[in-house]
Amino acid sequence: MNVDGTCLCGHITYEAEVDPDATIICHCTDCQTNSGTAFGVVVGVVDNNFRLLTGTLKTYIKIADSGRRRTLAFCPECGTRIYARTEDDPSAFFGLRAGTVRQRNRLTPTMQAWTASARDWVFDLSGIPGRRS
Ligand SMILES: [Zn+2]
Ligand SMILES: [Zn+2]
Repeated sequence: MNVDGTCLCGHITYEAEVDPDATIICHCTDCQTNSGTAFGVVVGVVDNNFRLLTGTLKTYIKIADSGRRRTLAFCPECGTRIYARTEDDPSAFFGLRAGTVRQRNRLTPTMQAWTASARDWVFDLSGIPGRRS
């Protein structure tokens, strides 16, 4: 599925090919901290098919306990997270941040990762009073 997207301020725009069936909620503590919220939602980029159209991404290299180097890319102007990938392993999961995808209403999560570190309230939001905006 071909998608396009942007960061909050519009500095970054991109096109990508994603696999909607690889839309994943990640509850790892890195995603909690890096997103500033409870979990991350990413969609897998097919064959590293991601093309930056405008702007320049800033990157942060996260070195995992395994020694694996994950590149986290974000907008240098507004801080919106754009993707996480492993540059030196093209076969590694390339996760595009689903909230930046314009067609995100067509991306429904199919899996949850790192549920052991999930916040205990995320699995049932139905009891929390809501309003439309
Ligand atoms: Zn931006
Ligand atoms: Zn994560």
